[in-house]
Amino acid sequence: MAGLTIWMDGEFVPENEATVSVFDHGLLYGDGVFEGIRAYDGVVFKLEEHIDRLYKSAKVMKLDIPLSQREMVEAVLETCRENDISSGYIRLVVTRGVGDLGLDPDKCSTPTIFIIAADIVLYPEEAYQKGLKLVTVPTRRNQAEALNPRVKSLNYLNNIMAKMEARQAGMQEGIILNESGYVVECTGDNIFIVEPGKVLRTPPPYMGALEGITRETLMEVARDGGFKVREEPLNRYDLYVADECFVTGTAAEVLPVVEIDGRLISGGKPGPSAGKLIEEFRRRAASEGAKI
Ligand code: PMP
Repeated sequence: MAGLTIWMDGEFVPENEATVSVFDHGLLYGDGVFEGIRAYDGVVFKLEEHIDRLYKSAKVMKLDIPLSQREMVEAVLETCRENDISSGYIRLVVTRGVGDLGLDPDKCSTPTIFIIAADIVLYPEEAYQKGLKLVTVPTRRNQAEALNPRVKSLNYLNNIMAKMEARQAGMQEGIILNESGYVVECTGDNIFIVEPGKVLRTPPPYMGALEGITRETLMEVARDGGFKVREEPLNRYDLYVADECFVTGTAAEVLPVVEIDGRLISGGKPGPSAGKLIEEFRRRAASEGAKI
C-alpha cells in the first residue's frame, strides 16, 4: 500500500520522510498547536473556522505562523487533492520549531508545519445505536489563568490522563470537571444535555470547554430546529437528571450518551432529539465547507 504524502513546511514529502527533529519544541515541550478537521464528499467541513481557531490558539501562545490564513486553507485543500482524499480526516500541526534544549521559544527560528490528510477511522455504528457510557474522572480541567483550555495546544496530557481514567473505569469516555466542580467537556468532545421544553444546554467556553466547531454547528442546527440553546454552567446533577445527553466532536459528530456515573440517561437508550440533530448535522456537513 502506498503511503501518504505529507505537506511539510511547504513541500510534499512521502510519509516516511516526513519527520521532525528531536530538537523540535513541539516534541520537547508540547509547544505547538493543532487542528483535527474532517472532509465529507469532496468538501472540507468548516475549514475556515478550524483555521481561525488554529490562528487564535497560536496568537495566545505568541506563535507567529509564517503563512496567511488563506494560504493555510489552500495548503489543506492541496494536501487533500494530493492524497485523493474526498472524505477523510485532516491533522494540521504547527510547532514552535527547532530550538535548543532550553525552554526559550526565541531560540526557535521557524515554526514546523505539517498537514496529514488520511482516511478517517470512524466510530463503530454500534456506538450511535447503543450510545456511550460516561464516567466523571478525577483529573480536573486546568484553570483558564494557567494554559487556557480554549487553546488547542499540543499539550494534551490532562485529556490523556482523563481518557485513561475513563478506560480504567470500563467506560468509553470521561467527563472532566473544572476546579470548581462544574462539568466542562469530555476528553476530546463537547457535551450537551436536553431538558424538557426543547431546551439544550452546554457549558460555556469560559468554564474551560474548547469552542468545538461541531459544538458551534450543533447549536445552529438546534436553534433552527426550534430548541432554546443555552450556554451556561452545568453540574453533575444537571447531567444525571437530563432527558438526554450527547457529545460532539469532529470525529464523533454527535454521539448519544446513555449512562453517566451509573445513572441511566433517556432510559438507557439514545434519545429522540439526538437522532434528529445527528441527521440534520450530517446533512449540513455534507454540503457546507471548502471544496477540494
Ligand atoms: N474538546 C476537546 C478537548 C477537543 O480536543 C475537541 C476536538 N477533538 C473537542 C472538544 C471538539 O471540537 P471539534 O468539534 O472542533 O472537533
